[in-house]
Amino acid sequence: FLPHLIASLEQVDQTYIMVKPDGMQRGLVGEIIFRFEKKGFKLTDLKLFKCSKELAEEHYKDLKQKSFFPKLIDYITSGPVVCMAWEGVGVVASARKLIGATYPLQAEPDTIRGDLTVQTRKNVVHGSDNPENGKHEIGKASYAIQFNPNTCNKHRCEL
Ligand code: UDP
Ligand code: MG
Repeated sequence: FLPHLIASLEQVDQTYIMVKPDGMQRGLVGEIIFRFEKKGFKLTDLKLFKCSKELAEEHYKDLKQKSFFPKLIDYITSGPVVCMAWEGVGVVASARKLIGATYPLQAEPDTIRGDLTVQTRKNVVHGSDNPENGKHEIGKASYAIQFNPNTCNKHRCEL
């Protein structure tokens, strides 16, 4: 009985973490990976993408009615993003804690958003909000169009 209980508590989940265009432009990719690695999670996939409008709209479909939706889609498709799959026990909820609150001014110190930004739209990173979405978002990202690294470097140097 006890081993079964422990096994169910220790279910390994996956979450989709995406460094948003502002995080990429500001050179925060390493900082973000560092925090998840330090916590003890396992990086199982990583890709550089230019997110299409279609994929961005699918990704944020729950927010379609919000007034900020058009600006959010423009922003998320404005430059390269880093798409990652992370794995571990309780990784979905834990990643949300490491990321911090949606509104960076409300995010606690020692969280990614709490430490690295003050802007709501440009809040550095995305993390899935439940294990089911984690798997779904990883699946979507896995067939997105890969970004051209030459254009990506150009973008970075224009800062
Ligand atoms: N967002 C925004 N204005 C708002 C709320 C959210 O531009 O008033 C953006 C922000 O980039 C946020 C994303 O929309 O990360 C998705 O919103 P959600 O509520 O899902 O927040 P998250 O899950 O990213 O914390
Ligand atoms: Mg969300």
